[in-house]
Amino acid sequence: ITETEQAVLDEIDEKEIDFLRLQFTDILGTVKNVSVPARQAEKAFADGIYFDGSSIEGFVRIQESDMRLVPDPDTFAVLPWRNREDGSSARMICDVYNTSTGEPFEGDPRYVLKQALERADEMGYTVNAAPEPEFFLFEEDEEGRATTKTNDAGGYFDLAPKDLASDVRRDIIYGLENMGFEVEASHHEVAEGQHEINFEYDDALTTADNVGTFRTVVRAIAAQHDYHATFMPKPIPEINGSGMHTHISLFTEDGENAFHDGDDEFDLSATAKSFLAGILEHAPAITAIANPTVNSYKRLVPGYEAPVYVAWSDRNRSALIRKPAARVPAASRIELRSPDPSCNPYLAIAVMIHAGLDGIEQDLEAPDPVRDNIYEFDEAKRDEHGIETLPSNLGEAVDALEEDDAIAGALGDHIASKFVEAKRQEFEEYLIDVSDWELDRYLETF
Ligand code: GLU
Ligand code: MG
Ligand code: MG
Repeated sequence: ITETEQAVLDEIDEKEIDFLRLQFTDILGTVKNVSVPARQAEKAFADGIYFDGSSIEGFVRIQESDMRLVPDPDTFAVLPWRNREDGSSARMICDVYNTSTGEPFEGDPRYVLKQALERADEMGYTVNAAPEPEFFLFEEDEEGRATTKTNDAGGYFDLAPKDLASDVRRDIIYGLENMGFEVEASHHEVAEGQHEINFEYDDALTTADNVGTFRTVVRAIAAQHDYHATFMPKPIPEINGSGMHTHISLFTEDGENAFHDGDDEFDLSATAKSFLAGILEHAPAITAIANPTVNSYKRLVPGYEAPVYVAWSDRNRSALIRKPAARVPAASRIELRSPDPSCNPYLAIAVMIHAGLDGIEQDLEAPDPVRDNIYEFDEAKRDEHGIETLPSNLGEAVDALEEDDAIAGALGDHIASKFVEAKRQEFEEYLIDVSDWELDRYLETF
């Protein structure tokens, strides 16, 4: 038993925790729980907890279904929305092991990210990341089901009383702080009913863990207020969708920001520019992972502050990658604007890292930044700047993923094949569906 594990055991005693939720994430990014009595914590650290993986999305085939969860003591947190009368609960995020080989399970997204971090480490870097998840708060109907009705008409940075959901947002922030988050800022987003809460950057693994926790806390606390929080990328047409811009930077072993160069016009080092170029190069394949639903592509359209074109900029928000202004050298970073909050954060951050490291290894050069509003460019002007377009639907994105050996390879065979299979099926189901839009348009016309 390590010191951190012992500290967790002490805290379980002290806070009279009854239940432990052991969490992990499936390939599609859903957080799964196995609940065990807290007195099993010691055993969980020593031997892990066995579970049947055959029922988990994309994990294993039935005949090889035994998995072992080993909790990461650094991720211990008491769940603030479980009240004490029915017993306090805490959670820990786990690594998944294959019981027959004893090795890390290659279908565990957290393992995929750990491998990306190992590659960075071999090249002499640690990776910091920060997400900016946006979400909508919707009213529930009498049966407690989600609607797409917002009860506020707020806009960007509006304050109460217009922003009626600010009470809910305040409670969400308390909940996050209780779970150990450093909340940096929260505001009403551009669209009505839309919110953004930013939490402090961290190492990439912690950040990916945090995204799953964030989504759970936001939904649980919104539900206590009879709201439905959704991370669906584009719930309402013709207003902004929800993104999860992801900021990323590399640090060297002696704690220097490898992305910073004060002599450069953009404060970006050659390393940062190659990293950025690597992401641009692999952008179509990354899109499949960062934008993994049919609905994701309703967000990636011109005019709503979401990216459509493969370019970077130091100012404008129509580009795929933005270089945010940084007040101190440590804050030099790049912001990838395509990811949306329906993605699996482990896989999305892992493919970003691999793409960027590929750019560094190949010494790729970044193209010139594009400072004009690319939404207003016509095709000829885009060609002139050499600007490609992101995949326009899930089918195209999955094709791009399959064709990109570096990105598919980064996921490993198990996850790449299960992901492609699941997403192909999802796209085909969508294609044969008949939507309300079609009925409205054609039913009485023909
Ligand atoms: N909601 C926009 C998106 O879909 C982003 C708005 C912003 O710049 O924060 O990405
Ligand atoms: Mg935002
Ligand atoms: Mg942003």
